[in-house]
Amino acid sequence: MTATTASSAAYIVAALLFILSLAGLSRHESAKTGNVFGIAGMAIALAATIALATRSIAAGGVALLATAMVIGATIGVWRARRVEMTGMPELIAILHSFVGLAAVLVGWNGFWSVERRGAAQNEVASSLLGIHSGEVVIGVFIGAVTFTGSIVAFLKLSGRIKGNPLMLPAHNWLNLGALVAFVALTAFFVARPSLGLLVGVTALALVLGWHLVASIGGGDMPVVVSMLNSYSGWAAAASGFLLDNNLLIITGALVGSSGAYLSYIMCKAMNRSFLSVIAGGFGNEGAAASDQDYGEHTEITAAETAELLRNAKSVIITPGYGMAVAQAQNPVAELTRQLRARDVEVRFGIHPVAGRLPGHMNVLLAEAKVPYDIVLEMDEINDDFADTSVVLVIGANDTVNPAAMEDPGSPIAGMPVLHVWEAADVVVFKRSMNTGYAGVQNPLFFRDNTKMLFGDARERVDDILRAL
Ligand code: NDP
Repeated sequence: MTATTASSAAYIVAALLFILSLAGLSRHESAKTGNVFGIAGMAIALAATIALATRSIAAGGVALLATAMVIGATIGVWRARRVEMTGMPELIAILHSFVGLAAVLVGWNGFWSVERRGAAQNEVASSLLGIHSGEVVIGVFIGAVTFTGSIVAFLKLSGRIKGNPLMLPAHNWLNLGALVAFVALTAFFVARPSLGLLVGVTALALVLGWHLVASIGGGDMPVVVSMLNSYSGWAAAASGFLLDNNLLIITGALVGSSGAYLSYIMCKAMNRSFLSVIAGGFGNEGAAASDQDYGEHTEITAAETAELLRNAKSVIITPGYGMAVAQAQNPVAELTRQLRARDVEVRFGIHPVAGRLPGHMNVLLAEAKVPYDIVLEMDEINDDFADTSVVLVIGANDTVNPAAMEDPGSPIAGMPVLHVWEAADVVVFKRSMNTGYAGVQNPLFFRDNTKMLFGDARERVDDILRAL
């Protein structure tokens, strides 16, 4: 068996492992196994690629490859071990930007080693040169959009820049104009490749990526995160064509299509069309809305909450980003165990965009060993709130905001939310009257059946446990 055949076989095994990994990751119960498949697939892919590369590059090149891998792996392991669950979205965003940058560099390298050398001297047959040029320009474009888009997403998610959408005049026309310019530049580049045109495409894509994500804000950020995930996949697939690496094409397509499907699910969950997300502007009136006077709120103590829970027949817990910040999942799981031991029915209601990452709450609850069968999706539980004695809203805000249903002028109007206010009593755990991610005030906090339990969610749940 030649080295090329061996590596092709290894690539097929790796591709199968990636597909098994995706299948595993789609269910809580099998997520860990899915991760193991993914790691195994990537290890095989790396080993096969290095084995192939060592045949064609000099010893100095191999040393360079090994050094780059050791540095990359060290930084990767260090960051992954240190990152808090709440910091995952920005870590993912910055990692997407690396994929984008890599695709730009691969594209530029392709141009340098083929088009720049002139048709006479290169190995690409002149009949295939046009296809190669197309691959270069498309790879560079997707890569550069992903690069700057992901950096802006990173800055927004980590709070380094404001989350509000940037609203340039005629911003949709600017995006459309950039796409038309890209098509024109691609046609020119394929007909007659030149350094100037490639610089033009790169600059255009960098600005477009920045503008696309800067003009999306508030509640639409979940879709942006999965959209950039998808872009990074297509950028990798484009690099795969240029590097003639089948596994990169397959992996890129898997990431690209699963990211696109996730964006579709998120859009459906938020009741938004993909185009209106791209067109941006959602959530920009948030600051104005938060100035509205909703009246007085009522406070409750941990001991009083414990009393409510003691007398409750059924309890629904709706966790949100604040539970992740407070790392309250273990005390919440303990509270669940204690209430169930007292024959109180306890279930969880999970909003599809609760937290800062798709599946954020599910991961935390699984980590705290909450049984899967009492963790329900929003659609499965939304009709049950009316028959519920007590709802504990633990660090959630936008996802339980009735204004999304009742106020057509609200910046989050139309977003489906958990109908927590229909329960007999609602206790909201948060530290202040501050708004949530979308910057919109929540009329739930001022309702007669809502009580505010102020403080860090973990400390307050511990207080309730003591009182129980
Ligand atoms: P929100 O971000 O709307 O609200 C979280 C609340 O938690 C805040 O009001 C905050 O109030 C409270 N909080 C923060 N820290 C603590 C703490 N230590 N103890 C107690 N409370 C705390 O959360 P939701 O989960 O309801 O909604 C998610 C939002 O994030 C949506 O707007 C969604 O669109 C967006 N988003 C979601 C992504 C995803 O993929 N899931 C990705 C990007 C954005 P206070 O400061 O007063 O304590």
